[in-house]
Amino acid sequence: MEKMDIDRDTESGGENGAAEKKHSAAIMVVLVGAPGSGKSTFCDQVMRASSRPWVRVCQDTIGNGKAGTKAQCLTSAATALKDGKSVFIDRCNLDIEQRADFMKLGDSKVEKHAVVLDLPAKICISRSVKRTGHEGKLQGGKAAAVVNRMLQKKELPKLSEGFARITFCQDEKEVQAAIDTYCGLGPSDSLPSGCFGQKSSNAKVQLGIMKFLKKVDPVGDAGPVASTVQEHIPDQENKDKNSNQGAEDGTSTSASASKDVKNGEDLDSSSTCAAGSSYNVPTLAFPSISTADFQFNLEKASDIIVEKVEEFMNKLGSARLALVDLSSGSKILSLVKTKAAKKNIDPNKFFTFVGDITQLYSVGGLRCNVIANAANWRLKPGGGGTNAAIFNAAGPALESATKERIGSLAPGKAVVVPLPSSSPLFSREGVTHVIHVLGPNMNPKRPNCLNNDYVKGCKILSEAYSSLFDGFASILRTHREFSKENSEDQFKSQDQQGRGAQNGDQKVKREAAFEPERSKKYKSFPKELGPNTKCPLDTSNNPERKDEKHTTKTWGSWAQALYDIAMHPEKHKNDVLDTSQDVVVLNDMYPKSQKHLLVLARVEGLDRLADVSKEHLPLLKTMHAVGLKWAEEFLNENESLIFRLGYHSVPSMRQLHLHVISQDFNSKHLKNKKHWNSFNSLFFRDSVDVIEEVSQNGKATLNDDEKLLAMELRCHRCRSAHPNIPRLKAHIGSCQAPFPSFLLQNVRLVCTPGKMQIGS
Ligand code: AMP
Repeated sequence: MEKMDIDRDTESGGENGAAEKKHSAAIMVVLVGAPGSGKSTFCDQVMRASSRPWVRVCQDTIGNGKAGTKAQCLTSAATALKDGKSVFIDRCNLDIEQRADFMKLGDSKVEKHAVVLDLPAKICISRSVKRTGHEGKLQGGKAAAVVNRMLQKKELPKLSEGFARITFCQDEKEVQAAIDTYCGLGPSDSLPSGCFGQKSSNAKVQLGIMKFLKKVDPVGDAGPVASTVQEHIPDQENKDKNSNQGAEDGTSTSASASKDVKNGEDLDSSSTCAAGSSYNVPTLAFPSISTADFQFNLEKASDIIVEKVEEFMNKLGSARLALVDLSSGSKILSLVKTKAAKKNIDPNKFFTFVGDITQLYSVGGLRCNVIANAANWRLKPGGGGTNAAIFNAAGPALESATKERIGSLAPGKAVVVPLPSSSPLFSREGVTHVIHVLGPNMNPKRPNCLNNDYVKGCKILSEAYSSLFDGFASILRTHREFSKENSEDQFKSQDQQGRGAQNGDQKVKREAAFEPERSKKYKSFPKELGPNTKCPLDTSNNPERKDEKHTTKTWGSWAQALYDIAMHPEKHKNDVLDTSQDVVVLNDMYPKSQKHLLVLARVEGLDRLADVSKEHLPLLKTMHAVGLKWAEEFLNENESLIFRLGYHSVPSMRQLHLHVISQDFNSKHLKNKKHWNSFNSLFFRDSVDVIEEVSQNGKATLNDDEKLLAMELRCHRCRSAHPNIPRLKAHIGSCQAPFPSFLLQNVRLVCTPGKMQIGS
């Protein structure tokens, strides 16, 4: 059996990197942020999803898993860059001096980016104080003091330091957008240069911070918070300080924090109207429909645009609409602008923009996640205007994604097409969806000419804009369900309004309207306690988790089956494949892949991953070994299989069980988003990682956010997005892309020796 153990973290080398080397110019991303700002999570998420080889250089682990020095980080980063790998510098890097040495690394081809996780101090402090098992041991009460102290010395990065690109993130949403940007960056892709997002006002200390410090509930080793404020500096930072290599605690003597925002460094200063300060605001850019090639009357068209925009305003939430035209002398733009102003339409929510709709971000600095295409009825490339430009810029990915959804379009209709990440419009411009719209035609040389019948024409044009905006609303709704930021009420009537858009976007809506079955099940079995049922999340089993806030959950009778089998395998002889004192092995009754086994622990009271503590380490290792043995057996029968072994962060069935699952996901039982994401998101915890975490921290990390199960459907190999399960299955049936580097590390995947398609 081949172990695909590509270096996990701070070391360089490995086949994967060498193989990728030829494709790409490496990038070095210097993360800038206080402890608790999410730097490691950022790296982790990108490394899991990215098809580009990344190396994370972290001072907390650089010395064989232990804290090391800045010099070690510099050496490690230099080696990785030389190997053609992209690198994350995962340190606080809060002042210029700290960053300067890293900026000297690599040759001129290496692009240097900064990602600033400039979250409110309160959040960073709260997270640092509460965390346990931190790599750099910066946790508990001492963390509050250190974070506070570091932030006082914060100096935001500038392009003049040598960065080609700086991304400022001030909240979780912006952080996620930046993660998505880097996740989508293929081996040969690059990102536009410049500053993105907004710089904070650089307030050094949050008002009322001492009040907050007194309130936090320190975990672990620190004494009263107030007494630690002056004293505690993390170990490795002390080391650096003593060795004069520049500590991250802000003890360096560099200039104090700068408030400068140089002209040209900020998005705000370079673009028109509401383009600035908009890094992550969902935005639909649309051309005027029917007024170019279809020769629709401009006055009438502008009335309809303004009327429809006005109607849609109250459903927009924080999103925006932009009417785009190539020419600054555009008549339709000026008509719409004047009429919108007369109606007092909020210019921050609706504005006109002069630019090429296929280069809004890279050239215009206007970030639009959705663009509309004034399409032809065949939904084919060609013709002129936006249709030709958009199909051209998007590459063949758009044509095939469109074809997958729908064959043709009737006048007045729109269809939402999720753009595959392979499209340059996706990677370069950040466009995730194209909405094709077909308007009425008044041009006798084009099909379906209405011969100046403006009664019909206006009706169809109104319908076209309704369909377009409803399509955008369906995308917004997905966004909102992820972020739960805005109230659902705004979109209550959306299902009815969505009727204009053809079936494609209705599917998006259905996918978006996800409610985890799991929670439904739990709701419907609140009191069905079996004789051995207890509340698995009362944390009584795992003292390490006593401090954590868990909801109490009961197991319904339907969830007891695995427990019964583990306790009484002799009663289930037909189902059980193997039994020992410690484990029972059986086929999953609803396999989500060709091969899908469960290895059940036979310990009473060990219901789920949350119950696992250090004492269970030998059992976890046994479960893993048994799982591997069965994977090997299957590989002897079918050498093309690839296996992954792991646990669900929150299982639906009682009794700790390890999933041994082949990666084809070729099964009729894999039916919905929850099924897919439970095996293909952070929700799935690889057995190797669980073992490592339990041995180090006495517990496993649970990624139990339900949003993970509601994420869009992405191929587990190439990470392309798909609108629904059938489409995803059709894709994964033939996708031969290498697995993301995260999966290639640490023997997370198990396959037949010589199966090079995984890592090649
Ligand atoms: P989890 O969500 O990790 O608890 O996964 C539970 C697994 O148990 C799912 O993959 C189910 O398909 C599977 N399952 C449910 N009931 C049974 C059963 N009676 N026998 C075997 N597997 C089952």
